[in-house]
Amino acid sequence: MDDNYKYIHNICSNCSSRETVVLNEVDSESSILLTSDVQCLNNIHAKRLLCEHCGCISVRFSKDYSLDDFYKTKYITDEKVQDHFIISEKKLKSKHKYLQKKLFKNGLLNISKGTILEIACGKGDLIRQFSKDNTEWECWAIDPSINEKSFIKESEIRYIKDIFKHEYFEKNYFDIIIAHGLLNRAPVLDTLRQIGLCASKGALVSLEVMLLENSHCIPYIWDHTYMFTMRVFQYYLKSNGFEILEIENMGPSYHFMCKYSALEEEKYFIPGKLDYRLLEDTKSQYQQHVTWWESAFDTINIVLKKNEQICLFGAGMYSAILMSKLDNKNAVKYILDELKSGSFLNSIPIIDISDAKTICSNIVLLVRPEYLKLIINKLMENDINFTVINPEKVR
Ligand SMILES: [Zn+2]
Repeated sequence: MDDNYKYIHNICSNCSSRETVVLNEVDSESSILLTSDVQCLNNIHAKRLLCEHCGCISVRFSKDYSLDDFYKTKYITDEKVQDHFIISEKKLKSKHKYLQKKLFKNGLLNISKGTILEIACGKGDLIRQFSKDNTEWECWAIDPSINEKSFIKESEIRYIKDIFKHEYFEKNYFDIIIAHGLLNRAPVLDTLRQIGLCASKGALVSLEVMLLENSHCIPYIWDHTYMFTMRVFQYYLKSNGFEILEIENMGPSYHFMCKYSALEEEKYFIPGKLDYRLLEDTKSQYQQHVTWWESAFDTINIVLKKNEQICLFGAGMYSAILMSKLDNKNAVKYILDELKSGSFLNSIPIIDISDAKTICSNIVLLVRPEYLKLIINKLMENDINFTVINPEKVR
């Protein structure tokens, strides 16, 4: 083992406790370190820790490696690449459009003038639309990957190109704070504390997070650096002064609409030790994902004994993880994905569903379980044969 390992301390980066256990550790020289946008991290070592004090599963990297630069320069914010689709009314919909409609058109906001901040706004589609529809509002946005050109045109939005820090903003200033997709990439307890510092008393806070229950890929993905179960997240929210108004399961992620009730001045939450039942639940959820994948790897090996080459369905994390575990790197001939057809994943051509019948056989499905039914229906409608290797739900 390389010397770099000694630089990775087993300290929880969420609560600083040393009561941690190592779930898995990898080295980019011998393994592939995948990110959620299906890229690879190079020249690093990483450890995934479970904190037995706060219940958070977090990732620590070797030496001074930080994902901040990755987000500023390499991270792909394209909707096609991101897991930006949700299932609603049994249909696949754009997450941005759905949230926009849900947040701003259902009467949750009945004040005509106020202040709004979107943290980790990405391309800024959500805040831009809000600003157009609500011209009286003072709109702010912060994100390390902001494209200045597109924001300059929208002069009414004040933006900051950086990682979120409460110091940029006046205390208790905002009536609405949106933080979607942030709390799995930043220390969740401290980020909630900082959001609280920026929020006015009674502010609406819209949070979108991935929870361990719905994140099968977690044992193999290295940029979702903070992960927790539903119950642990609810505990974090409550302890930080956030009252949950509404929770919605959107498939890959959950949407939480909260109201911020300020904690007593400066008495910010210092977490006590988590209830052991919540910790046991976290351990069991993680183990279920590991078992799920081991079963999928076994099944693909059986399929590959019968077929020399296969086509995979979907050019996302599930296929990337599967491919990273195949001994025969030429086993996958095509990837079928109508959203990304014409491009490549690991040099393998991505083709459209309309080409599937003519140029590929042996289509293998390993997909997010929530999407399985929809995809099966679609393939059957198009008269395409396939083999499902999704393991049955463990429980
Ligand atoms: Zn911790």
